[in-house]
Amino acid sequence: MTTRLEERGPNIGTEPAPLAMDQLFNARHAEAYWQQATRCIDLVRRKVAHVERPFTGARPEDLEGLFAAIDLDAPLGELRPALEELERVYLDDAVYFHHPRYVAHLNCPIVLPGILAEAILSPINSSLDTFDQSAGGTFIEQSLIDWTASRIGLGEDADGVFTSGGTQSNLMALMIARDHYGAKLAGHGGNKQQGLPPGHQRLRILGSEVSHFSLQKSAAILGLGYQAVMPVACDDQYRMDPAALKARLEECLAMGLIPLAVVATAGTTDFGSIDPLEEIAALCREHGIWLHVDAAYGGGLLCSHRYRHRLAGIEYADSVTVDYHKTFFQPVSCSAFLVRRRSDLRHVTYHADYLNPLCQAEAGTPDQVNKSLQTTRRFDALKLWLTLRIMGADALGEMFERVIDLAGEAHAALARQPEVEVLLAPPMSTLVFRYRPAGLTDAELDELNAHVRTALSRNSEAVIAATRVAGKRYLKFTLLNPDTRLEDLTAIVERIVHHGRDWCEAQAPTRAAAS
Ligand SMILES: *Cc1c(COP(=O)(O)O)cnc(C)c1O
Repeated sequence: MTTRLEERGPNIGTEPAPLAMDQLFNARHAEAYWQQATRCIDLVRRKVAHVERPFTGARPEDLEGLFAAIDLDAPLGELRPALEELERVYLDDAVYFHHPRYVAHLNCPIVLPGILAEAILSPINSSLDTFDQSAGGTFIEQSLIDWTASRIGLGEDADGVFTSGGTQSNLMALMIARDHYGAKLAGHGGNKQQGLPPGHQRLRILGSEVSHFSLQKSAAILGLGYQAVMPVACDDQYRMDPAALKARLEECLAMGLIPLAVVATAGTTDFGSIDPLEEIAALCREHGIWLHVDAAYGGGLLCSHRYRHRLAGIEYADSVTVDYHKTFFQPVSCSAFLVRRRSDLRHVTYHADYLNPLCQAEAGTPDQVNKSLQTTRRFDALKLWLTLRIMGADALGEMFERVIDLAGEAHAALARQPEVEVLLAPPMSTLVFRYRPAGLTDAELDELNAHVRTALSRNSEAVIAATRVAGKRYLKFTLLNPDTRLEDLTAIVERIVHHGRDWCEAQAPTRAAAS
């Protein structure tokens, strides 16, 4: 017999304040949920319809004051004033990644199916740690892991799990590589039981000199320290040089160091360069070393017909990082970690009696927590699921191809500008360059380019990124928006030249005085 909630008798004991009970998501409030959600969606709709610039240029000190007046112990009691306040303290000055002149970091504009999935996964609130908290959600996630592994070509035994991002995926890769090594040591019961193996100071992780900083962070977390990360030299296109890797491996052996893992990057954060995966894989095989491919950025090529070949060799990886929230146009967070041999994931497994007891695993229950560093975990997989079910992978691949082609066109346009130095033809969709009028020292150029970037943001003209290459300051376009046109980029470059000339003029008297 079922009792409708509305017909239940009064609660015994102290009733929470009606306001609190009104805010619970349940059958009684399905209507209120719908009405209020509609108002939130409507606010976003109005905002997005009128976004004319990627950022207002607000500085931290401009925003700080807005927060000083807010007392978190004095609730506003209802949605309308809370949304009005939120508009002021957040939405008015938010950074809008969908704007064509936001070309700074690896943030993509997001596709509607991904956002619509958020509208479903948040209220249902499944937690993907165990089957008994997610049911079909577990199978959706597993299907997407299998789909990704199959696109990579990892083979029948592959497995993996969704993560919060490339940083967590890289941490998992290096943890598993470390424990894979530990498990082979005679007389060591494995890292899980015994901690670090003797001689752990000699363990090394090899990644190119432009690999992601999460390698250093992971090494520190894993008890190996930054010192464990050994940089490998690149060629002039910022790809790991296999000859340099070979030399590093030989150097390790000669010095009694133990190379634990090689991390090849398929799409470096600054340059988009893709390490020569096949040659690196051959060296790893020869030396019996774990190969991790960090495809946080380049993973989107898995959906491209025209450029998939650039990832050739990724199929030899022992593990792979893919960030769907970068080149699959998904909302943050949405990312995965994959391994070639599912048994390697045992290094992150802990059986808790109350959650995922061993007997449950033995009975074949697919508890994803057995493969994850996280316990309670969002159903981020639903975003990619709905995207594939509505749009399909080809559509994602075509959007990524579009920004790759745009980067090529923009490179040609920049290369025609005599006052702009472009570092390299884009291997993917970033452009690294600086404004370089004749007659300035590198120190002056550093100052000039820093000024240009700040001026663009302060004047709400564009948001671009900056980086350092060989100690010199460069500007960077990261192109992920298929809605950005070449005209947007040439307009930004015009403003760069304008601010650059301004700076030179302002400096002219001091420079004249100094010389
Ligand atoms: C972005 C990036 C990461 C980190 O991913 P997050 O999702 O930001 O944690 C790792 N590696 C590379 C090459 C990246 O570009």
